[in-house]
Amino acid sequence: MNKMSERRLVIIGAGVVGLCCGYYAQKSGWNVTILESGSSSRTGCSFGNAGMIVPSHVIPLAAPGMLSLGLRMMFNRRSPFAIKPRVSTDLLNWSLDFMKAATPGHVQHVAPLLRDLNLSSREAYVELETELGPVFDLKQRGLIMLCKTTKMLEEEGKAAELARGLGVPAEVLDAQAVAALDPGVTMDVSGGIYFPKDCHLSPDKFVNSLTQRFIEIGGSVVLNAEVTSWRSCNNRIVAAVTEAGEYEGDEFVLCSGAWSSTLAKKLGLRIPMQAGKGYSITLGEPPQMPEICSILMEARVAVTPMGNKLRFGGTMEIAGLDESVSHQRVQGIIDSIPTFFPSFSTELFVDKPVWSGLRPCSPDGIPYIGRFSTFTNLVCATGHAMMGLSLAPITGKIVTDILMGVTPPFDMQALSPNRYQPAN
Ligand SMILES: Cc1cc2nc3c(=O)[nH]c(=O)nc-3n(C[C@H](O)[C@H](O)[C@H](O)COP(=O)(O)OP(=O)(O)OC[C@H]3O[C@@H](n4cnc5c(N)ncnc54)[C@H](O)[C@@H]3O)c2cc1C
Repeated sequence: MNKMSERRLVIIGAGVVGLCCGYYAQKSGWNVTILESGSSSRTGCSFGNAGMIVPSHVIPLAAPGMLSLGLRMMFNRRSPFAIKPRVSTDLLNWSLDFMKAATPGHVQHVAPLLRDLNLSSREAYVELETELGPVFDLKQRGLIMLCKTTKMLEEEGKAAELARGLGVPAEVLDAQAVAALDPGVTMDVSGGIYFPKDCHLSPDKFVNSLTQRFIEIGGSVVLNAEVTSWRSCNNRIVAAVTEAGEYEGDEFVLCSGAWSSTLAKKLGLRIPMQAGKGYSITLGEPPQMPEICSILMEARVAVTPMGNKLRFGGTMEIAGLDESVSHQRVQGIIDSIPTFFPSFSTELFVDKPVWSGLRPCSPDGIPYIGRFSTFTNLVCATGHAMMGLSLAPITGKIVTDILMGVTPPFDMQALSPNRYQPAN
């Protein structure tokens, strides 16, 4: 066995998940190299997202009603959730797996796991702020789910009850109480649910400062290094293969977001995944600045203060590995904003750049974290969908535990990357 500092770990993908895995592993004595297909100017999913850390999100994407919502909205080009019809066996199989998972029993089974992961990750973010300094705008002020109608407020009240039942604090507030909680912004709503444990931050600043620290402690990030295949021997990976050469390692971690299933397939491994496209637009000089991040529930739009900027993000479009912008869907986001925040006009968004990103979505709404059973030195850490930023630090800690031979204190069965692998 090599000395710890000689043990080489190769990570594929320098998104927020890959970087957190690299950071914690490097700190634990591994010699880590992260291979990233993008360049230094990349702007992928980990950079332009809504920046929310979400203990409030105990319900997975695969929940009753979600698939029928997607199908109903399929032909509405402005809707916040859509599945683009395509001839694709992968999409068909993913949809079947999604339907199988979207049951009340599944939600009940995984909600405590999502709570534990999100709360532990929140703690890790607070630690990371101490380690990296106050450089990524972390604000521990909670999140408000803003409801325009009383019907939505009632529905969300039930979700709040579920969260409270699991020990996640949640308060149902009327319009007056919501206004008192965040007087920085004028709101036209029936009320909202306040989740005091949630936080927000600037994701690009987080990714950049973590990258810098990872390199300072001896890690390396190789840009423009797309892994195209693998070299393996006797059910062990020997090297990740790029056009510029091979990277040999003792252990490998697959963290390449929405592209992970394509790389897994090259080893005969099945981790079903669809890309869930979303958009964001950031205002540099907003007319009002909320203190607390919020979700405009009927529109499913996230609103996050980031330093002196304000970001609006939304849509979940299952449309393949396609980062192009649908201007109609973006207009759907923009048009919803003045209906909740009357001091904002749609003109504020004219000619503002639109960012798009692809969320890596597993069919059951639970990430894939763990060792593959057929390749004993390959660990998987992907499929976090709408919670990848929130869960990145705890994912990095779990992966490091696995690499160190420590059993992580979570339901690893539910997270297993082998759960969709056909039985031999
Ligand atoms: C509009 C929007 C809002 C969101 N808001 C939030 C939020 O508020 N909170 C939250 O928790 N999450 C949010 N998310 C989700 C979050 O952004 C993602 O879950 C997260 O960024 C995924 O991180 P990742 O590292 O797994 O993937 P990515 O960030 O996609 O990183 C994967 C990396 O792998 C690289 N790669 C791919 N293939 C290869 C290859 N073959 N070789 C080498 N490198 C490769 C890619 O270039 C990429 O850099 C949001 C997403 C969107 C779209």
